[in-house]
Amino acid sequence: MALVNEHYLKLSDNYLFADIAKKVKAFKVSHPEIRVISLGIGDVTQPLAPAVIEAMHKAVDEMAVKETFRGYGPEHGYDFLREAIIKNDFEPRGIHLDMDEVFVNDGAKSDTGNIGDIVRWDNSVGITDPVYPVYIDSNVMCGRAGTLENGKWTNVTYLPCTAENNFVPQIPDHRVDMIYLCYPNNPTGTVLTASELQKWIDYAIKNDTLILYDAAYEAYIRDKNIPHSIYEIKGARNVAIEFHSYSKTAGFTGVRCGYTIIPKELTAATLDGNKRVGLNHLWDRRQCTKFNGTSYISQRGAEAIYTPEGKKQIRATVDYYMNNAHTMYKALTDLGFTVYGGLNAPYLWVKTPDGTDSWKFFEEMLYGAGIVCTPGVGFGPSGEGYIRLTAFGDKNDCLEAMERIGKWLKKK
Ligand SMILES: *Cc1c(COP(=O)(O)O)cnc(C)c1O
Repeated sequence: MALVNEHYLKLSDNYLFADIAKKVKAFKVSHPEIRVISLGIGDVTQPLAPAVIEAMHKAVDEMAVKETFRGYGPEHGYDFLREAIIKNDFEPRGIHLDMDEVFVNDGAKSDTGNIGDIVRWDNSVGITDPVYPVYIDSNVMCGRAGTLENGKWTNVTYLPCTAENNFVPQIPDHRVDMIYLCYPNNPTGTVLTASELQKWIDYAIKNDTLILYDAAYEAYIRDKNIPHSIYEIKGARNVAIEFHSYSKTAGFTGVRCGYTIIPKELTAATLDGNKRVGLNHLWDRRQCTKFNGTSYISQRGAEAIYTPEGKKQIRATVDYYMNNAHTMYKALTDLGFTVYGGLNAPYLWVKTPDGTDSWKFFEEMLYGAGIVCTPGVGFGPSGEGYIRLTAFGDKNDCLEAMERIGKWLKKK
């Protein structure tokens, strides 16, 4: 008899965005005359850059000819892309990486979700709250999160990020084996300074903690003093894995490509504590068994992001989204909302007025203005009392959404 992985049964059945879709559908049925504007789900809307399209077309043509056809590629990615990554994303920031410290993947969700394969199932976990749901759910699936009690997982240390602490998570007062950090943050759109990050590195060195650093929104950083990579911080090579994605940087949500950095200095202990094992080697071993590489066409597309035209084009798209963020930030602030994020990230984290709960405000804004947001509590208990708006929409939609919210508030 095949038995199921019982840990999966602990997962909540309802997926946040499915719940939202259901409520939006109900609204549309009862209000067919209203055009709903979604500032909810975190997906991009602008097409791929011309340089990327051209490179991918060329790669497709190569696949059509016997001499240039490519079958299985290296599991960790083609050297042309790994080289471009090191030269463009790291060397200009004074970070030196070896080729075999770069693992090209099919997006950051896979690797942030799978990285737990190479560490023990009963490590304790620290997670900022609210958070990208993948970090929690992937730990639930292997039993590492423990059991759910009063809305929290027993083996997870929650690090609240709220207006009260200016969205800077407090360093835990006890040892945690592994900690997930995501900056610029989804969902709050806030960032950590170099000195704040240094405190995490110092904590990790002192406590032998593994930091899993998700830099998916790095391209949205505007402030020159905010680090783009955790390896800009002293000591990080010994304690941190970093995840990157071309999804938000270059509109690759449907193409699928990203990469993960695992420095060779990074090790973890065996249970008896007698031995340190390199995580770079373990991940390589894992990938060679369970992953067969990202498509050649996607990797050629990713490489094109690093050409002079590619850089200019993806910068223009990121600027387009950040202009939306700016417009929304200003409009909402003028309307009296307290708004966080949006300055170095494509997300605005908005305090609901008068302590209205997240879901109630979601429904009020949907029925009052025809605008869809994401209720903050969907990202974790500390998200209660907030909503998330994305800047990934069309410019005119963003403008209209702000106008509608203004009119709705006046009527209210
Ligand atoms: C969108 C996003 C990713 C990227 O996922 P992909 O699988 O690369 O598309 C990773 N982390 C966070 C926090 C995200 O919001």
